[in-house]
Amino acid sequence: MTLVPLPAFADNYIWMLQDGSNAIVVDPGDAQPVFDALARNKLQLAAILVTHHHADHTGGVAALQAATGAPVFGPARERIPGPFTPLSHGDSADVLGLRFSVIDVPGHTAGHIAYFLPARQGRAPLLFCGDTLFSGGCGRLFEGTPAQMLASLDALAALPGDSRVCCAHEYTLANLRFARAVEPGNADLTQYIAHCESLRAQELPTLPSQLATERRINPFLRSREATVLRAVREHAELSADAAEADVFAALRQWKNDFR
Ligand SMILES: [Zn+2]
Repeated sequence: MTLVPLPAFADNYIWMLQDGSNAIVVDPGDAQPVFDALARNKLQLAAILVTHHHADHTGGVAALQAATGAPVFGPARERIPGPFTPLSHGDSADVLGLRFSVIDVPGHTAGHIAYFLPARQGRAPLLFCGDTLFSGGCGRLFEGTPAQMLASLDALAALPGDSRVCCAHEYTLANLRFARAVEPGNADLTQYIAHCESLRAQELPTLPSQLATERRINPFLRSREATVLRAVREHAELSADAAEADVFAALRQWKNDFR
């Protein structure tokens, strides 16, 4: 199976997995990039996986389903266009001999799910996490609480370190500018910024990222690290005994206000 990010809109990626004959797409906010990729590679669409209800992740679902008849899988607690198989924590989507396990990751939206494909035949695991975890950042909290998002990110961070993190947006450089403000002394972060800047200079995606890298550089996976804790406490003037969720909330608010 080959993994390809199909660019959509200004900075979305629609992830496509294909085996030379069949394809699976994740979060097709727009149908046209998918139709183009199917035609270009002479592929049949075998399934559509959706992580959450936002239009830039679901806008192409109805047209793709109508044209191809591909089954749609989506979050049990959200409404997405057309008929779909509702999934929640512990369920799986079985497509083309692959078993994608579902992880509930509320926070960005209330019913957001992620899909995890374990390692197979020497291939690294894949994580399709929608707008929950980004490289160097995390999604905004539109519907969930900081405590929910922190628990969701903890669940993702516990997956194998070699997992390839397939995020739905190319937000990496902007996220890393913020990460550097939080942890200016993080040498792994400095190195990763140079790596991502080089990729973007060549107009290449920074994604997928690797989960082990995210654990070392992403402040939203590091809100209990001493360096991040200290920076957030100082920035938000939190007391030393502030709860984990309050520290995470202050970190997220700092990012929202960061220019
Ligand atoms: Zn979203």
